[in-house]
Amino acid sequence: MSVPSYKRILLKLSGEVLMGEQQFGIDTDYVARVAQEVKEVRDSGLQICLVIGGGNIFRGMAGAAKGMDRAQADYMGMLATVMNALAMQNALEQLGVPTRVQSAVQMDQVCEPVIRRRAERHLEKGRIVIFAAGVGAPYFTTDSGAALRAAEMKCDALLKGTSVDGVYDADPKKDAAAKRYETVDYDTVLADNLKVMDASAVALCRDNNIPIVVFSIRERGNLARVLSGEGTQTIVKKDA
Ligand code: UDP
Repeated sequence: MSVPSYKRILLKLSGEVLMGEQQFGIDTDYVARVAQEVKEVRDSGLQICLVIGGGNIFRGMAGAAKGMDRAQADYMGMLATVMNALAMQNALEQLGVPTRVQSAVQMDQVCEPVIRRRAERHLEKGRIVIFAAGVGAPYFTTDSGAALRAAEMKCDALLKGTSVDGVYDADPKKDAAAKRYETVDYDTVLADNLKVMDASAVALCRDNNIPIVVFSIRERGNLARVLSGEGTQTIVKKDA
């Protein structure tokens, strides 16, 4: 299946990707491997916005389930995404890739605040912009943050790198007969509650006509393969 040639993408990586084979936290070797893949596609001339989750460190819902105030726990989750963003920035810069981190929760000593026009300039100069802290508000996730930044930065697609190689009609880990979609439309994802991203993120992509490309980042070289239309993926789009 051929994939349109994108000029600017938003790559969303869940925090779990940074754990590598660990159960928690950041595996620096694995982050370096992912950074190398990101560098390769960036070197091919693609403009890249990155959003990284925080689930490898802290999720607001988990805190709330243990009795914490949900908003308080969510702010902790947002701070976790900033740590991940800094880890990825470090890995990319060790490979010689210029980057900037922009956080939706202002943190002047650590990174820039989110300023769309400045982010635009960074991309023009070949820098990768890593957007941290999601949308900067509790009760949201970094999926929504990714959809929001993809829309405001006018990205051609939102690539969601996870541990599964696409979107299935049932959980492939539990159901051997589960089928992977090549393409699927936004409304089917929402109506059937398919596990892609949370509903607000899918709706934002639908309303702004941003295709969501779901693929496995765990397979080495897959990011480049998916971008060249060769990898295994599911594309969520209009009229699929
Ligand atoms: N979070 C939030 N608002 C946002 C983005 C993130 O409150 O706009 C918090 C929320 O608690 C979430 C945590 O940060 O659980 C980590 O983000 P997420 O769960 O999206 O990470 P991922 O699952 O992608 O690793």
